[in-house]
Amino acid sequence: MDDGDAEAFELRQERIARNQALFREVNERLESLNRTMSELIPISDFICECANPECFERIGLTIPEYEALRAEPTHFAVRHGHVFAEAERIVERKNGYSVVEKFEEAGSYAIETDPRRGSAAQQK
Ligand SMILES: [Zn+2]
Repeated sequence: MDDGDAEAFELRQERIARNQALFREVNERLESLNRTMSELIPISDFICECANPECFERIGLTIPEYEALRAEPTHFAVRHGHVFAEAERIVERKNGYSVVEKFEEAGSYAIETDPRRGSAAQQK
């Protein structure tokens, strides 16, 4: 890989990370809505957190599943197959979605933009 390729690779990772951070913000808001409904509807609708900015597919998670996901700042929930192998790897396959873990640049970006960073839950 020459320097140009490495740079393009980093840019691509950054773009992937940025899109996913945005979808994570949306899901954080959906969660507060979903939480209110969770006694009636145990499986809540979230949106796919993949890096495709045009993907608004739904995924179903329970609130505890969503909380477990958000406990790891580098983890995102995506539809099966919506995986960008240059920036993430699958850590878990669930019913209807996969949990992916970001690495390298994309991983650092995911940690920096974690909406829960600095809150009590993040103090370790
Ligand atoms: Zn997707």
